[in-house]
Amino acid sequence: MGIKVAKFGGSSVADAIQLGKVKNIIDADPKRKYIVVSAPGKRFDGDSKITDLLYLCNTHIEHNVPCDQIYQVVVDRFKAMEMSLNVHVGLDQEFAEIRERLEAGEGADYIASRGEYLNAKLTAAYLGLDFVDAAGLVKFNEKGKFLDEETDKALSEELKKHDGAVIPGFYGTMPNGKIKTFTRGGSDITGSIVAKAVNAEIYENWTDVHGFLQADPRIVDNPEPIQHISYAELRELSYMGASVLHENAIYPVRGSNIPINIRNTNDPEHPGTMIVSQAKPEDDGRIITGIAGSKDFVVINLHKNLMSSEPGYIKRLLGILEGYGISFEHLPSGIDTASVVISKKQLKNNLGDILDEIDRKLSPDNVEVSHDIALVATVGTGMANRYGTAARLFTALAEARVNIRMIDQGSSEMNIIVGVENKDFETAIRAIYNAFAKDNRK
Ligand code: ASP
Repeated sequence: MGIKVAKFGGSSVADAIQLGKVKNIIDADPKRKYIVVSAPGKRFDGDSKITDLLYLCNTHIEHNVPCDQIYQVVVDRFKAMEMSLNVHVGLDQEFAEIRERLEAGEGADYIASRGEYLNAKLTAAYLGLDFVDAAGLVKFNEKGKFLDEETDKALSEELKKHDGAVIPGFYGTMPNGKIKTFTRGGSDITGSIVAKAVNAEIYENWTDVHGFLQADPRIVDNPEPIQHISYAELRELSYMGASVLHENAIYPVRGSNIPINIRNTNDPEHPGTMIVSQAKPEDDGRIITGIAGSKDFVVINLHKNLMSSEPGYIKRLLGILEGYGISFEHLPSGIDTASVVISKKQLKNNLGDILDEIDRKLSPDNVEVSHDIALVATVGTGMANRYGTAARLFTALAEARVNIRMIDQGSSEMNIIVGVENKDFETAIRAIYNAFAKDNRK
């Protein structure tokens, strides 16, 4: 019998009622043997995520401010769950230890990881499955870099010993035994790692939405759902801001061709979105798969006569950025011009210094900086080898009176990225969506 790995996100495990739904989902399919959980998330609008509360506790301790009140909220939530689920996992002892290590300055990663740890203990007891701690199995090196091969080996050996198990998401350990977390939302990555380790036939990622939509529903009214999407398309869309799944969750399963199925815990009959190695555009009859983007980029435009015949010019430009630890997003260039697109977040306060250095080391004839640029990516393998797609996109933007500041098309023809002004961001997304909506509904 094949194996399914099911990962449940914060809202799916936010309280005992949600965990009841999780149990029904697990009971409905005996293939769902390995379960990965997040920490309890929000139960309602305005509620707090356990992980946020734990980080907040740590910040208090670091600033010598008592965190008793916040800590008590965390304790109370777990205790209420333990009682409603009618399980006993020794929470008093667990919390005493966590408190002690928190006071001893164990650090943010340790304290943040306890949400997943305790939740996995509760869920395992409730589902009658083994608890398998991620500590010691999900491995990072001393610099905090995730070690995929070592982890895969350790996890697959351990999980062979368990016919079913609940594993906490989000964290692992470094060689000195210290807890290390992935970035926020990282339980998605753990789910993917577990799916690979047990060679699952599918990685189900259970959340509170029906999957990916073709555009952000806060911008476009009722966007169409995406039924199938390829890993590569998803990578482009998540990188550009579509956030249902952690952008690094694709890698572990991608190499093993394990599909990821985004599902809704609150509507388990809905098929959700299937992420596969090769999406079949003809299945959904679409040219584009989705549109995503983000605001707040800065573009540095350089002009220098005969730049293109000067070896190493771009290398030196990128070397300057490297010196500030900045990775660029795009690098559109012309014969004697080069532009680098950098997110404002990455630039921090370094723009002045960078421009000085460019001036000194590259002697450009002219440098211009555009602020407040938004990038909009239109993604779809269905665009490749088809004429007229770009024309339709640019006509739609022109008709919506959106001024295009930059264009970049990947050589795979899988995406067209346009830079527009921040203020035109939403208009641009709506215009592109509407231009293709007819085909998408075919
Ligand atoms: N609990 C962590 C967070 O809130 C990790 C996760 O839920 O995936 O980021």
